[in-house]
Amino acid sequence: MSDWGLIGQERAVRALSAALRQGRLPHAHLLVGPAHVGKGTLALRLAQAINCLAPVDERPCLACRQCRRIESFLHADLHLLTVEPGHREVRIAQVRELERALSLKPFEGRARVAIVDPADAMNLEAQNAFLKTLEEPPPDTVLVLVTCRETALLPTIRSRCRRIALGAVPVARLAAALAARGLSPEEAERLARWSEGRPGVALSLAADPELRQRREAEVERALSLPSLPLPRRLALADELAQLFTAPDGRDRQAEDAPPVPAPRFGERLWWVLDIWQSVWRDILLACAGPGAPIVNAERGAEIERLAAGLDTGRAAEALLAVWRVRRYLEDNVNPRLALEEMLLSLPEAGSPGRVA
Ligand SMILES: [Zn+2]
Repeated sequence: MSDWGLIGQERAVRALSAALRQGRLPHAHLLVGPAHVGKGTLALRLAQAINCLAPVDERPCLACRQCRRIESFLHADLHLLTVEPGHREVRIAQVRELERALSLKPFEGRARVAIVDPADAMNLEAQNAFLKTLEEPPPDTVLVLVTCRETALLPTIRSRCRRIALGAVPVARLAAALAARGLSPEEAERLARWSEGRPGVALSLAADPELRQRREAEVERALSLPSLPLPRRLALADELAQLFTAPDGRDRQAEDAPPVPAPRFGERLWWVLDIWQSVWRDILLACAGPGAPIVNAERGAEIERLAAGLDTGRAAEALLAVWRVRRYLEDNVNPRLALEEMLLSLPEAGSPGRVA
């Protein structure tokens, strides 16, 4: 399978499969790129390609026993280092435990593969401990670090890994891939556009009608923000701050279920902010003139109406406010204060010189 079953990440796949075929696979990889573009899937595919039973040119076959056991995180030589339910960080004790496991010979495959996802969730102590494994890797071990926040990793960790960057996929390419998976051309185009070229988002939306409805409701909320009175904005900041720290749902998993990579901390809020950002970017584009390709084209009329009441500078400020709150949250600023600052700086309908 030449694309390893990923959408639009050919360059990364080519680099890894060439290294595998030539027997020159580095012992440590750093997969970087935005959330939901396929980094986690690529890490798993690499573990499969390393241990697959098919001829070398056909790896990973995704059908043999090794591939299937890795796919479901059941393989004894696949180690996942991730945030445990109820925690916010990967801790040093987990790194030590991994170190011990990696010191043993592979049990059922060719090599042990450790996936660290999200790698940026390792706290400083854990990163320093992990550095030792990177510096003196046990034989028959491949380490794969996955992150959308590369700069949160120690430079000494980054410099010891082969960096592989993944990116968003052009919307038309993603739409074609979704259509090839059985979606109607209209639905494929819509979900590719809504997901802004992130295959993981598009596939989740395709699989879950309720998620599509929630997205539409969130666009609705973003469009109504300018008419939201200030006291209600403060209440909304509070609500969103709680969403940021809400449990990610893994605490409800069965105890004997195999572990899966933890989502980014605050994933439910990131999802909301992604949508708000797309709406405000659409408004800014509409301010600049008609005809620009917008993400939320279904709401084009309302976007045009909001844009008509704003000058370009004010729309850009609003987009920046949404962008800035993400930086604040990543930098551990108090979430409620950061969200209040954003919500209070968005334009108000009916105020002089602002949205009409
Ligand atoms: Zn296989």
